[in-house]
Amino acid sequence: MNIAENTTTLLQEIPEHVQLVAVSKTKPNKQIMEAYQAGQRVFGENKIQEMVAKYESLPKDIQWHMIGHVQSNKVKYMAPFVHLIHGVDSLKLLKEINKQGAQHHRCIDCLLQLHIAQESSKFGFSEAEALEALSFSQTLENLKVVGLMGMATFTEDQDQISREFKRLKNFFDKFAPDFPQLQVLSMGMSGDYPLAIAQGSNMIRVGSKIFGVRNY
Ligand SMILES: *Cc1c(COP(=O)(O)O)cnc(C)c1O
Repeated sequence: MNIAENTTTLLQEIPEHVQLVAVSKTKPNKQIMEAYQAGQRVFGENKIQEMVAKYESLPKDIQWHMIGHVQSNKVKYMAPFVHLIHGVDSLKLLKEINKQGAQHHRCIDCLLQLHIAQESSKFGFSEAEALEALSFSQTLENLKVVGLMGMATFTEDQDQISREFKRLKNFFDKFAPDFPQLQVLSMGMSGDYPLAIAQGSNMIRVGSKIFGVRNY
């Protein structure tokens, strides 16, 4: 497993308009630095405490993305530095992020997570709820919804995965004209990023294909 090589190969493989978020959750700083040396500056974590610890000890030109489910009471720990929060799935969370953004005199970029998978376990808004959240977010000064995020069902069925990504892309295209701040469509992981890119993703979140399998 050569992390620098994996990073370089992946960056060469994906189209230029697609941003790579290297998902470094559970991985030690040393391995993150191997991807960093290969030029990667955008990393994704799913636990706030872990991301804060890594932010404090790693180079400051890294952009940290929170890709996991966020508890409102922990937003304050990442509010000073987080670059993009992917998994926003409630109005309560929008309010808290806005409040913490104000505390730190910044506007925090967010993505609304939509529930596109068949599994009931995955978080996210329905389309109607997302629209309501999008309208609500426009009243908030210290938060900006810059796009949407979704996770497909964990299945071997490629057609199903493609259909789910397509649905999110259609929703994105339908509302982007009314909400021009919507620029980012975050979909695709190690197992399904080629399908996601084919369906219009412009941000992929890839962990195991870069860093190897995780031992939880
Ligand atoms: C862990 C995780 C990923 C990366 O998963 P891989 O299959 O290792 O690429 C992407 N998105 C989210 C939300 C994750 O939690």
